[in-house]
Amino acid sequence: MQMLSARHSENPNVTLLLKHIPPVQDTVPCLTVLEIFQKNPHIFALPVINNENIPLGIVDRKDFIETFIKPFSKEIYGKKNISDFMNKSSIIVDKGVTIDDVARIIVDAGMQHMVSGFIATDEGQYVGVANGLDLLNEITQRKQANLFHLAHYDHLTNLPNRLLFLDRLNMALIECRREKTQLGLLFIDLDNFKHFNDSMGHEFGDKLLLAAATRLLNCARESDTVARLSGDEFTIILENKTCQNALIALCNRIVESMTRPLLIMGREVFITASIGTAMYPDDDTESTGLLAKADAAMYEAKRSGRNTFRNYVPGMKVYSLERMTLETDLRMALERNEFELFYQPQIELSTGKIVGNEALIRWQHPERGLLSPIHFIEMTEETGLIVPIGKWVLQEACRQHMSWVENGLEPLPISVNISAMQFYQTEFCEMVRSIITDSGMQPIFLELELTESLFMHDVDVVLKTLHELHDLGVKLAIDDFGTGYSNLGYLKMFPIDRLKIDQSFIRHLEREPVNIDIVRAIAALGKSMSLELVAEGVETDSELALVKSSGCEFVQGYRFSKPLPANQIEQWMKERFLNPALYLTPN
Ligand code: C2E
Ligand code: MG
Ligand code: MG
Repeated sequence: MQMLSARHSENPNVTLLLKHIPPVQDTVPCLTVLEIFQKNPHIFALPVINNENIPLGIVDRKDFIETFIKPFSKEIYGKKNISDFMNKSSIIVDKGVTIDDVARIIVDAGMQHMVSGFIATDEGQYVGVANGLDLLNEITQRKQANLFHLAHYDHLTNLPNRLLFLDRLNMALIECRREKTQLGLLFIDLDNFKHFNDSMGHEFGDKLLLAAATRLLNCARESDTVARLSGDEFTIILENKTCQNALIALCNRIVESMTRPLLIMGREVFITASIGTAMYPDDDTESTGLLAKADAAMYEAKRSGRNTFRNYVPGMKVYSLERMTLETDLRMALERNEFELFYQPQIELSTGKIVGNEALIRWQHPERGLLSPIHFIEMTEETGLIVPIGKWVLQEACRQHMSWVENGLEPLPISVNISAMQFYQTEFCEMVRSIITDSGMQPIFLELELTESLFMHDVDVVLKTLHELHDLGVKLAIDDFGTGYSNLGYLKMFPIDRLKIDQSFIRHLEREPVNIDIVRAIAALGKSMSLELVAEGVETDSELALVKSSGCEFVQGYRFSKPLPANQIEQWMKERFLNPALYLTPN
C-alpha cells in the first residue's frame, strides 16, 4: 500500500552516506598513514583528529600517494607529522545537515572536495566521512526518482496519478489475459466536493481531499492500486484474482467509512462518495472501456441519490466524456434553444395537495440525447456559463408559472435552483426583480433554492443579498440541507423560509436508523425556527411513512412523480385538482 507520508522528494540526512573510517591522530608520522592507505585500498580519504576526537582535516588518498611516489619523498617527508600534509580547509559538517545542504556547501567551496569528501561531527566529535562521489550519486538518483515521482504521483495526496494509473491498469490487464483472471475497477467521485472547496477555501478543500484519500487507502487492500484521476475523482484497481463479491465488499467498506465525520481545520464535516464499478472481462476488455463503464455506473450512483455504488450493467449510458467537445457544445446550447425545464411537484403531507413545483434543467443534446444536470451543471459553473443559463432558467420558470395561471390552474409556487456564482453577481437581486416584473407574476410564487455552502462565505455580503431578496417578496430555501456542515447555528441569522433535507438522508431511511435520527433532529431544528421542511427524494411508501413520523410537512420524490416536461406536469396537476382522491397515490 502506498503511504501518504512516504515521499520520495524528502531530502535525507547526511548520515545516510557516512562511512566510519577510523581516524588518525594529528601527531602520527606520514609513513604510518602511507601504510594504512596501502593496506586498505578502499579508503579514499583519512580523517585527522586531535587527542580530543575533534576533526582537524582530511588526507586525500590520491594526492597523498602521488606525493610519496616521487623519488626520495619517503626519506624527506616520512617522519613528518600528518598534520603538515592534511587539507586544513576540509569541509566539516554536523551530522544533522541534509544531503542537499552539504552538496551546496561543497559546490560553493570548490569542486576538489567532491573527490576528497568531507567529515561529519556530532557535537564537534568525529563520527564519519563521506565520499563526494557517493554524495553525487545519491543526489542524482534522488533527482531522477523525484522527476519520476512528480510525473507519476499526485502532488497533493501522493497517490498514483492518471498516467501511472493507466499504466498499472494496462499492465494488470496483460497479466489478467495471460492468467485468465478477472479484474475490478472502482470509479469514485466525492459528493458535493465543489461546495466545500468554493465555500471553505482551497486549503480546506485540499485537506478534505487528503483525508478522503486516506480513507480510501484504509478501505483498500495492500495489493489494490488507489489513484487520483483529477479533482475529486479517484479510482481503485482490484487485482489478484478478484471477483464481483470483493468489489462489492470494498464499495460497502468505502460507503460505510464515509459515514464517520472528518475533522478538517477544527471542523467536523461529512463527505460522501458515489462509486461505479466495472469488471474485466465481463464489462469490457480494454482499459479505456472499463474506465468509461465504471464512470457510467458512477453517474448512475449519483442519479440514485449519491452516497452509494452501482455496478455497471449493459444499457447504462456511457459517455466517453470528451470534455472539450461538451464544453463547446454547452457554449452554443443556449442560443440553439437546447435547454428545457422539467418540473417536479412538491406535496403537502397533511392534505396530499400539490403545493409547488421545482424547476429542473435538462439539456436536449443533439447527439447525446436528454442530459440531466449532473452531466453539465458543474461545467456551467466552472466556465461561468451558469450566469446566462441561470438567467434563462429564471425567465423560463416565471413564464411557465404565468402560462399555467393563464390556463386556469391555481397559482402555485415555483422553485428555482440558484448556483453560488449567480448569487454572488452584483446585479443578482436587480435581475430577479426585473424578471419578476417582466413576467407579471407575484413575487410570493417564486422560491429560490440556495445551497448550504453559500452561507459560509462572507456573511455580511450574503446577509445583505438575502435581505434584499426577501424584501422583494420571494421565498428562500436551503437545498440539499445537511450535506456538509455540522454547525447549524448560523441558520438563525438568515431570512430563510424552508429547508430541503437532502435525499441522501431519506434514501433507505428504514435501513439506516442514523438517518432517522438526523431527519428528526433537522425537523426539530426547523420547527424551532419556524421553517418549513421538505424531504427530498422520497421513493417508497416506507420512506414516506418515516418522513411523516419524523415531522416533515412536505415531500418531493419519485414516490409521487419524477421531474416531467411542463405539459405532462400540467396534465398531472389538472387530474389531481379534479380528483383529490388521487392526491396521495403514486404516479
Ligand atoms: P436538487 O435541486 O437537489 O434537485 C433534486 C434532484 O433530485 C433532481 O435531480 C431530481 O430529479 C432528483 N430527485 C427527485 N426525487 C427523487 C427521487 O425520489 N429519487 C431520486 N433518485 N432522485 C430524485 P436533477 O434534476 O438531476 O438535478 C440535479 C441537481 O442539479 C439539482 O439538485 C440541482 O442542484 C441542480 N440543478 C438542476 N436544475 C438546475 C438549474 O436550473 N440551475 C442550477 N444552478 N442547478 C440546477
Ligand atoms: Mg433543488
Ligand atoms: Mg436538493
